[in-house]
Amino acid sequence: MAPILPNLPVASLSPCSEIDEKRPVILVTSAPAWNAVQDSLTGLPVGTRLEPCEATLATWDGLLATVKDSSAQVVYSVGGGLTADAAKYFASRLDLPLVMLPTALSVDAFLTCSSGIRQDGCVHYIPTKAAESLVLDLEMLSKAPAWIRSAGITDVLSIATGCWDWKFAQERGQNPSGMDLIPWVYEAAQAILHGSMDCAEAAGRGDQPGLKCLYDCLAMEVQLCNQIGHARPEEGSEHYFAYCAEQYTGPGWPHGELVGPGILRMAERQGQDIQLYEAALKACNIHLDRIPPEVVRQTISRLPDYCQRHTLPFGIAHIPEEKI
Ligand SMILES: [Zn+2]
Repeated sequence: MAPILPNLPVASLSPCSEIDEKRPVILVTSAPAWNAVQDSLTGLPVGTRLEPCEATLATWDGLLATVKDSSAQVVYSVGGGLTADAAKYFASRLDLPLVMLPTALSVDAFLTCSSGIRQDGCVHYIPTKAAESLVLDLEMLSKAPAWIRSAGITDVLSIATGCWDWKFAQERGQNPSGMDLIPWVYEAAQAILHGSMDCAEAAGRGDQPGLKCLYDCLAMEVQLCNQIGHARPEEGSEHYFAYCAEQYTGPGWPHGELVGPGILRMAERQGQDIQLYEAALKACNIHLDRIPPEVVRQTISRLPDYCQRHTLPFGIAHIPEEKI
């Protein structure tokens, strides 16, 4: 199959209460998200409701097998990252259009065209599909719980460490084939990174222009990766730290609370000044000390071996601490 260059969903900046869906709907959601917004979604005729609680193919296929409603014509995703990833999988398997309704700007998953699944102790991205449309209800997003509302900043701030790794690997001739450093993409990613730091405070407070700016940064980061066909500009050692830590914390830990500390730890190792990154993470209310210290210690000591074992693209995390 010829490679494709996926697009972002077409976003409508409108209140979700204006949704007036005529087609029979398969709703993918989580209980907390649904409870928070269902009163505004009277225009959504829900036939089937799926609540994925884990990002594994076995769980998703199990839920898919319960879908008996063959009249469904559209899938709606109402919730956060896990919901979005599962909904993209269901919509692509059922060959149905997908409408994304993020209830918090918690990750970039509601914009991407693949789904992260947990398999053999790591996160693998399987091609699924991007949503055709997205409802960006800024007022609703501003009312999301503070700890999750703008946690997606971690998927933009990860450019700080991801891009560093990308360049580092290039200098050492260690970038996998097809992932060579592209200087203008590197520069474009830096501009997006700066944009996210500029809006961190406003987004963290829940100000609507700040949330819109964070959304723009997430959208540009995702589309930049869409254009080049890989995620090296925004995914490096900080995500490897998160994937490895997840083996000890167990599934379902908020992505931002794993990636956030990963950014700070890895940026420090890279010799970067972490002050501005830390300020942006704190402004967005990311809990940076939720992972138990024992888990952090284990993660750090296992990380080089973990990166080798899962053949992750080269970065600072591949190098044992004592050799830096
Ligand atoms: Zn991420």
